[in-house]
Amino acid sequence: MILVVGGAGYIGSHLVKELVESEKVLVLDNLTTGHREAIDSRAIFFKGDLGNQEDLEKVFSSYPIKAVMHFAAFSLVGESVVEPMKYYQNNVAATLTLLNTMIKHNVKKFIFSSTAATYGIPNVDIIKETCPTSPINPYGRSKLMIEHILADFAKAYGLEYIILRYFNAAGAHETATIGESHDPETHLIPIVLQHLLGKRDRVSVFGSDYDTEDGTCIRDYIHVTDLAHAHIRALDALLTGKKSNEVYNLGNGLGYSVKEVIETCERVTGLKANVVLSDRRPGDPARLVASSEKIYAELGWKAERNLEQIIKDAWKWHQNQLY
Ligand code: UDP
Repeated sequence: MILVVGGAGYIGSHLVKELVESEKVLVLDNLTTGHREAIDSRAIFFKGDLGNQEDLEKVFSSYPIKAVMHFAAFSLVGESVVEPMKYYQNNVAATLTLLNTMIKHNVKKFIFSSTAATYGIPNVDIIKETCPTSPINPYGRSKLMIEHILADFAKAYGLEYIILRYFNAAGAHETATIGESHDPETHLIPIVLQHLLGKRDRVSVFGSDYDTEDGTCIRDYIHVTDLAHAHIRALDALLTGKKSNEVYNLGNGLGYSVKEVIETCERVTGLKANVVLSDRRPGDPARLVASSEKIYAELGWKAERNLEQIIKDAWKWHQNQLY
């Protein structure tokens, strides 16, 4: 059985939907930001908190868990600057409780959701895993702290882990039964689509004077289903002993500017957006684009869905948002 912590969240729920095809899956989620409806009915659900020792004891002593995949984290950069305690408490302290309980129960395989925010402001156009990590906000630091802890635990306790550093997760399941639903929503693609559905009166472009081709920030958007597939490859590598104690970027190696994303949303939907140029958002690097060559070379994974597909699937979901 695979324990998916945070399996009711955006990325976790997409992973669960794929993973139940091949494994027994147990989801642990406290539903503070996750959605009960997002959990595939073939998975077992345990409502609990990863920072709560009692909940974890119940889970680990009741089920034969062979690996843990950890998606349960707060992930808003701006919020992390204003409320760092919340980020260090959940993303670091609670994760430590989880790791501690795993080791106590002799469960030593761990897949960790990390982030491009660990790189800070990179000095290269395409980011490889060997680029220095130097996060510029508490969110990125909280993830990097766990990355360091994992390396130490591997040496001391024999933990085996794979770290996946996501770039910009986007899109929805092709069936439109699950998708992105944050409250408040801060991400670009859902904001543009909500606007095109009449739920917002405009789209603000945060900064148009960056040192990029059209002056707006460039990001590497990756379809959430592609992300889910990458996790399954990583889990398989960990379970078969093919790989451990590695870090992989997950992106598609292509950058799109904020303007290009908005134009693609307009093309896919056939609707015109009311776009307003506004100030930069603090903490935004101009360009974050991944090299995903390492995971392709070592685990054979690459992104298969482009920006247009991401937006098509997100649009289907937003038109019929179930939760
Ligand atoms: N962005 C924007 N307007 C919005 C939301 C986001 O211009 O209403 C920009 C944001 O400044 C960044 C890019 O879109 O350059 C992607 O932001 P998002 O919050 O989706 O993801 P992040 O890169 O912060 O993880």
